[in-house]
Amino acid sequence: MRPRSLPTPIPRRHALAGLAAGAAGLLLGGDARAGAACPSGLAGRVLPVGVQGGLAVGLKSYPAMLPLADREMVLTFDDGPIPGPTSRVLDALACAGARATFFVIGRNASANAALLRRIRAEGHTVACHTYSHPWTLREMRFEAAKRDIEAGFDAIAQALGESAAPFFRFPGFADTPALLAWLASRDIGVFGCDLWASDWSPMSPEQELELTLGRLAKARRGIVLFHDVQARTASMLPRFLTAAAAQGFRAVHMVPGPGRLSPEPAGPGWSSDTERMIAIARRAHV
Ligand SMILES: [Zn+2]
Repeated sequence: MRPRSLPTPIPRRHALAGLAAGAAGLLLGGDARAGAACPSGLAGRVLPVGVQGGLAVGLKSYPAMLPLADREMVLTFDDGPIPGPTSRVLDALACAGARATFFVIGRNASANAALLRRIRAEGHTVACHTYSHPWTLREMRFEAAKRDIEAGFDAIAQALGESAAPFFRFPGFADTPALLAWLASRDIGVFGCDLWASDWSPMSPEQELELTLGRLAKARRGIVLFHDVQARTASMLPRFLTAAAAQGFRAVHMVPGPGRLSPEPAGPGWSSDTERMIAIARRAHV
């Protein structure tokens, strides 16, 4: 059955988003604790992403990426929402006036509905990352995997009071041809990433900051994967956003769009990092 939550477009809300943008330059939330001013100039354009008939982007897994200009990044956060780290991530994004996409787990959405609504109220895109974060969907029967994805979208819709964006990310990027085809038939886009923070690995916030800024400088653009459930990510994010803004990066806000976006094909010599990622993630349960 088609989830009732799909694929109704999400109305954009601007009231709180405007407040957040106006906060640039002030001391807020986690940044205030760190004693740093909010970065300015990080907010980039809004990118409507049409997923009619399916879309799979993110060079770590797929030979296609979003059509982004040099120094344009799309910030994405997985596995929340949970009290604590997710709230600090939202504080940092509000401070910078930047919008992100949150690939939330359905059961966390149900358990933390107020926090989920805060994500949406502050202008971010809410997307789905399954209901129970199975490890992995590849090891499940097709029908069971499909049910978990549908349950994720339904739980988000119930907690949020509106549908999630028709955007999905596989736990650990562990997709299957059958699930990809089914998601495409449901007009749901699949998002891998172009670089990641490796924030599932034990490291200090300072190490994560340096690692991720280095990868961003090398990639120069793309979808960046973080986990808002990781305290180290919440801790380093204000500094990451400040440094990225100082280097001229812009945070592009991905929102549901009409039709189907034309992705940019991968360059020659492209290869998928998915299998290596799954092997890493299998140890860490990303
Ligand atoms: Zn995950």
